[in-house]
Amino acid sequence: MNVVKTKNIGFCFGVKRAIKMVLKAADETGGKVFTLGPIIHNPQMVNLLKEKGVTPVDDVHEITEGTIVFRTHGICKDEEEYAKTTGLKIIDTTCPFVKRVRKHANYLEKSGYQVVIVGDRNHPEVKSVLSYLDNDGIVLQEPTTLTARKVGVVSQTTLDKGTFVGIVKELIAGVEELRIYNTICESTQIRQNEAIELSGKVDMMLVVGGKNSSNTTKLYKVVHKVQPNTHHIETVDDLRPEWFRNVSRVGLTGGASTPDLIIDIVEGRAKNF
Ligand code: SF4
Repeated sequence: MNVVKTKNIGFCFGVKRAIKMVLKAADETGGKVFTLGPIIHNPQMVNLLKEKGVTPVDDVHEITEGTIVFRTHGICKDEEEYAKTTGLKIIDTTCPFVKRVRKHANYLEKSGYQVVIVGDRNHPEVKSVLSYLDNDGIVLQEPTTLTARKVGVVSQTTLDKGTFVGIVKELIAGVEELRIYNTICESTQIRQNEAIELSGKVDMMLVVGGKNSSNTTKLYKVVHKVQPNTHHIETVDDLRPEWFRNVSRVGLTGGASTPDLIIDIVEGRAKNF
């Protein structure tokens, strides 16, 4: 089987940075490193980190010893405030691109704009950005008409450009002054563009990454639009032999939180079909 990979595949800058920071902390402290929620949305990597003493917890109040790690997608303001009162060591791995969304949203609010975040209201990143605003932000997941004087828009970092543009276009009609920050991270945009281009040149696409990963799920959706014969898999165990019938060229791409090793194993197996 001929397998072609996208150029940008595997961990993005933010994930590499976060993993390096927690591994260093685990080495220095001999374990007892606690992350608020999974540090990245990849179950295999999170399990690997557990073996090194990096444990995800759901509630910051559960952490009474060791080191507290703020995950790549950011944490909520009240969690940060509580963590600081514990006196425990804190490592902030929040991706700088996520912090940029927060910075722009806060600036818009201070400048008198109603803040709109385009993204998934249940995603930790969006919850984090909302929590640092003084007033209520509006989260939009689909084109919606708003009637307001001043509206300022930011996007979730892992959003696809088409969705962002569609929602912004709809806002123009009802808003007197619209200020837009495109805060989709570059890594997300490059990956989506490369994957879309490759999809048109192959018989089937494989998108590798956590089912709970926002950027992988969005990558799958944009690829699926161009290449209906696309499968989202987490590991090599999800591959099905019947997918490879009547297929001679397979495209391979992966989310920003997918370890290289998992991609390499999938590539090796796919080549053997
Ligand atoms: S996908 Fe972008 S925003 Fe998210 S961690 Fe990676 S570099 Fe940061």
